[in-house]
Amino acid sequence: MATDQTIKSVLAVGAHPDDIEIVCAGTLAKYASQGVKVSIAVATDGSAGHMVIPPKELAEIRHEEAKNAARIIGADFYWLGFGDEMLPGDINTRLRFVEVIRRAKPDVILTHSPEDYHPDHRALSRLMFEASFVSGLKNVQTETPYHPGVQPLYYFDTISGLNFHPTEFVDITRTFEIKQQMLSCHKSQLQWLKDHDDVDFLFMTETLVRTRGYQSGAQFAEAYRSETVWPRPRTYRVLP
Ligand SMILES: [Zn+2]
Repeated sequence: MATDQTIKSVLAVGAHPDDIEIVCAGTLAKYASQGVKVSIAVATDGSAGHMVIPPKELAEIRHEEAKNAARIIGADFYWLGFGDEMLPGDINTRLRFVEVIRRAKPDVILTHSPEDYHPDHRALSRLMFEASFVSGLKNVQTETPYHPGVQPLYYFDTISGLNFHPTEFVDITRTFEIKQQMLSCHKSQLQWLKDHDDVDFLFMTETLVRTRGYQSGAQFAEAYRSETVWPRPRTYRVLP
């Protein structure tokens, strides 16, 4: 935990290979521009996100796409490879996330809202709440030694902003272009959503961050809600 009230390392954990880019990449790019170490972890392999490409092939494609997006901001990248739509909530899974936290050593963790739309998002939200508590306990052993403290936990926006009441905003006007570049790495999803749902992924995301910007006095913004249970809150600003 940062004791000098500065954030030196952030870990963002998304359920699927494009979630991070949709809801928090502008914030991560902003952290990176301030010299903060950024780590991105993706829980599932995204193998269900297509109607034509078979699961194994799709997982490889999506792994590559997510890695390319992380590379744009020089982020460390963790791929956990759980089955898409099948993220378990058991103790062994929790320990996998404990290990990621111990390796990334974050001062703050960003993840899905507990009330998000997707079962994997909800499962991951709970797993990160649990893992970020346990990762500081020396007697709970994984490969990497414990990471002291209980980090502040911030829930990022939902995909369309529905069922999410933000308490903090991050002005991403200067990193919006980078966010869209990162999102554009997910070619399989851009194409698939256009073909099958007539959804323009980039436009959808732009609409969300413009709305959040409108709500917070910025051109573009990403929205968050902090976990408020003890001992998560801080007296200083944690988000960039
Ligand atoms: Zn998702």
